[in-house]
Amino acid sequence: MKLDKLSNEARLLEQYGINTVEELFSYKSKAEKEIKILTENRKQLRNKSKRKNCSNLNEVKEEISEIGKRLKELRKKILLIDDIAERSNEIEEKLGIKAYDIYGLSEIAGPGVGYECECQHGTHLNEDHYFPEIINPSTLEPVAPGETGELVFTHLTKEGMPLLRYRTKDLTALHYDKCTCGRTLVRMDRILGRSDDMLIIRGVNVFPTQIESVILEMPEFEPHYLLIVDRKNNTDTMELQVEVRPEYYSDEINKMLALKKKLAARLQSVLGLGVDVRLVEPRSIERSIGKAKL
Ligand SMILES: [Zn+2]
Repeated sequence: MKLDKLSNEARLLEQYGINTVEELFSYKSKAEKEIKILTENRKQLRNKSKRKNCSNLNEVKEEISEIGKRLKELRKKILLIDDIAERSNEIEEKLGIKAYDIYGLSEIAGPGVGYECECQHGTHLNEDHYFPEIINPSTLEPVAPGETGELVFTHLTKEGMPLLRYRTKDLTALHYDKCTCGRTLVRMDRILGRSDDMLIIRGVNVFPTQIESVILEMPEFEPHYLLIVDRKNNTDTMELQVEVRPEYYSDEINKMLALKKKLAARLQSVLGLGVDVRLVEPRSIERSIGKAKL
């Protein structure tokens, strides 16, 4: 019986001069070993080429440093990372690359609905294909240019499944004045949050992205946090647990208290609301990938 009646794995043995089942059986122990090595090598290669989900900048940096030497020789580098909005300066500084925001959503076209230009004064939306509008998510009425609201798209050129006034739930503002790059395509602000993520705490509108931006601007904290919203004695409460970076974490209570006060004061000025801050040890909050989790 010829080996071509067997699996692809067995065919690999041909290079060892094993062409028949009889030969395979007589070389069984050797063959099993060789197949294992070949399979393992192929698995390793597959694992290496697999896309890696990095949950923080240090992981991204580690991943990049694996191919670091070759990276320097490349003229153009494209780093695909989810939600760079508030992290682009840090990415640019740590990785030595220029980071541009790309906006897209699978319901409309996937990536490519809009790009930042070299001036980085907002994301130019490709209005020739997607007509954007901003509406008030409560009244559904259009808002004035420059005002924040929910982004809505209508397909202009899509065939098959065009969408009319599709509500993205993304909150942003549009600016129609000409960009310094010369393009006349409308410019979109960075996404402030999701209309369905908005929290109303003691009558104040709070977006998790506002809290995230405060954490990211302070070097003492990791970009990992947990927001616990509750209601006690008929009053809304909000507790923020945030990881302190190892180099700032200390057993001295005074140092940790000062850090906690600093963060609470910054949150108060940005949100206009008191937040109960709890500092936690590095890597103690469960990692999640993607959008802010509550
Ligand atoms: Zn521009």
